[in-house]
Amino acid sequence: MTQGFATRAVHAGTEPDPASGSRAQPIHQTTSFVFRDSDHAAKLFALQEFGNIYTRLGNPTVGALEGRVADLEGGTMAVGVGSGHAAQMLAFHVLMEPGRNIVAAKQLYGGSINQLNHAFAKFGWSVKWADIDDLSSFEAAVDGDTRAIFTESLANPGGLVTDMAAVAKIANAAGVPYIVDNTMASPYLCRPLEHGADIIVESLTKFIGGHGNSIGGIIVDGGKFDWKANTDKFPTMSTPQSYYNDLVFADGFGALPLGPDGANVDIAFAIAARAFSLRDLGPALSPFNAFMIMTGCETLPLRMAKHCANAMEVATWLKGRDEVSWVRYAGLSDDPHHALGQKYMPKGAGAVFTFGLKGGYEAGVKLVESLNVFSHLANIGDTRSLVIHPASTTHSQLSDEQKTAAGAAPDTVRLSVGIEDAPDLIADLEQALAGLS
Ligand SMILES: *Cc1c(COP(=O)(O)O)cnc(C)c1O
Repeated sequence: MTQGFATRAVHAGTEPDPASGSRAQPIHQTTSFVFRDSDHAAKLFALQEFGNIYTRLGNPTVGALEGRVADLEGGTMAVGVGSGHAAQMLAFHVLMEPGRNIVAAKQLYGGSINQLNHAFAKFGWSVKWADIDDLSSFEAAVDGDTRAIFTESLANPGGLVTDMAAVAKIANAAGVPYIVDNTMASPYLCRPLEHGADIIVESLTKFIGGHGNSIGGIIVDGGKFDWKANTDKFPTMSTPQSYYNDLVFADGFGALPLGPDGANVDIAFAIAARAFSLRDLGPALSPFNAFMIMTGCETLPLRMAKHCANAMEVATWLKGRDEVSWVRYAGLSDDPHHALGQKYMPKGAGAVFTFGLKGGYEAGVKLVESLNVFSHLANIGDTRSLVIHPASTTHSQLSDEQKTAAGAAPDTVRLSVGIEDAPDLIADLEQALAGLS
């Protein structure tokens, strides 16, 4: 019997340390690992045996976290990296070549929009934007150079829910992997691999770590994409690689007995992400951060349940306030994304949502300054409640029109509701709203 989520959140990926008996995961704060002999070293470098070489390529503490998140997401193998953005860069690096494009939802975290528009352009990768509220826009955007479709499960900042099964069908028909950023939902609320996603990327900085103290990211291989059926499209996966004695990754790592009860699983994408992209681009996760994030992960189910319950209370309360013109939270029964929320994340619609102030831009600026329990900062997914006025901060360089399109109109305030007592959060909002008039 598969163990429950809360059990796996505590135990998956770890066992008492065989050398010391340490029950908590030791922090292997080392750059490098001693080889048994020359033959062992040669095998490790040729990927003929898995093991530790150098912490840029892998580390036992990071490996424990990888095992845990791969298990929680239902993937075959994970690669922990230095940030959520690094996870995105490395996942795309395996798939892309100059001149190819990514079809991406325009409802993405602002930093991801920048990464796709600007940073990736320097690699010769382009992006074609689609709209999660108009699925035909994904079909229309896909062309012969498309190598991935990319959306968030629950989209930042508005808390919008993507119809992942429908997007997966489009990706399938196009013969490209569907990559989902699951940061805002976390595997507790939603497991996109169960809805047709092929690869997960997520920021560990947010809900999985959960305490606002460590930056990290992870790639999870779903193990289901058929690289061999798409040989022309993905040369890194399905043509001989001279780096590694002409090994074809989709062959060499397409069926290894690493699954439950020794079942064969496909870990080819995860190995490629590590053996090419992490090795050569270099954004490794520090063992200390992996330890902090793993400690946070143990309480993920408890925290997410409280985050969602608090968000629901706060959103419901805000809806009844005169100063507030609208609230967008998929947890509310009259929200346009409520039905999708019920389908994809029935345990809750997360803890990040937006609302509008009748007083517009000026009111937004004043509100963030008047809150005391909510911290005014640019993060989400902390135990602490957080607030930001996107128009005057994260989205300030955009025109009013662009701000509105990105879900950051001048009147918009974004909350990331923490795990404090809901009445204290509401009292804080009440005094700040009262101060607006
Ligand atoms: C924060 C965030 C990222 C980037 O993660 P970092 O760890 O900050 O690099 C990506 N996607 C979403 C949805 C995020 O909220």
